[in-house]
Amino acid sequence: MTFPKINLHIHSNYSDGKNNVQEIVKGALELGLTYIAITDHFTNSWKAWVSTLKNSEKLSEYFKELSICQNFLKENNHSLKLIKGLEVDLSSSEKFIKTYINISEVDLILFEYLEDIESIPFIKKLIDYWEKSLLDARDLPLIGLAHFDPSNFLYGSLDLLINFLKEYNIYFEFNPRYSEFYSTQNLSFFEKVKENLIPVAVGCDSHTLGNLSNIKEPYEMISYYDLESNFQILLESLLSLTKY
Ligand SMILES: [Zn+2]
Repeated sequence: MTFPKINLHIHSNYSDGKNNVQEIVKGALELGLTYIAITDHFTNSWKAWVSTLKNSEKLSEYFKELSICQNFLKENNHSLKLIKGLEVDLSSSEKFIKTYINISEVDLILFEYLEDIESIPFIKKLIDYWEKSLLDARDLPLIGLAHFDPSNFLYGSLDLLINFLKEYNIYFEFNPRYSEFYSTQNLSFFEKVKENLIPVAVGCDSHTLGNLSNIKEPYEMISYYDLESNFQILLESLLSLTKY
């Protein structure tokens, strides 16, 4: 089966990426990608210095620039679709996240650093809050876990994790920068992902144009773990997201 080429984890110079948004879109067009998500860091944690997205004005500017690129792609009939994302560090404060993110502007939220079961209620609380703030729950963005390491959950809390991902429709990211996270040591996680139809995606965590299309290994791993149906679920969500 041939799948469209996707990379749902890219940083621009709004945070710690090297290139601006236009350069990323141009690079993705040249590489023949079908879906890209620009997912700049949003955080007020110890790593707040990596991002310029720290207030409503800057976030509006960011989303406006992404919308302009979406319109450019549409008007020129390019098959490339751009997803407006943010990567939210779980050590950010709840108040900071709730105050500055206007969830109706966002297509994709990546949560980074889910490393223990104690952080699961924090994510649930945010998603519940966003869901209530929207008129239609179907307008919730796509939600994924950035460079998530399943090994932290293998012993004792795997079912809890899987039930959480299933209930909140959260996807697993195949990320070639952290290939150890999809090693066969985590086979029992991937078996449960398959069985429970948890969506899976590909995100390269690109900070330069050089690895914008570093997707070969993630696609091989999706096939290795027999997760094509899970990937298909994700692709269908992307399709409904990008009817802009
Ligand atoms: Zn990232």
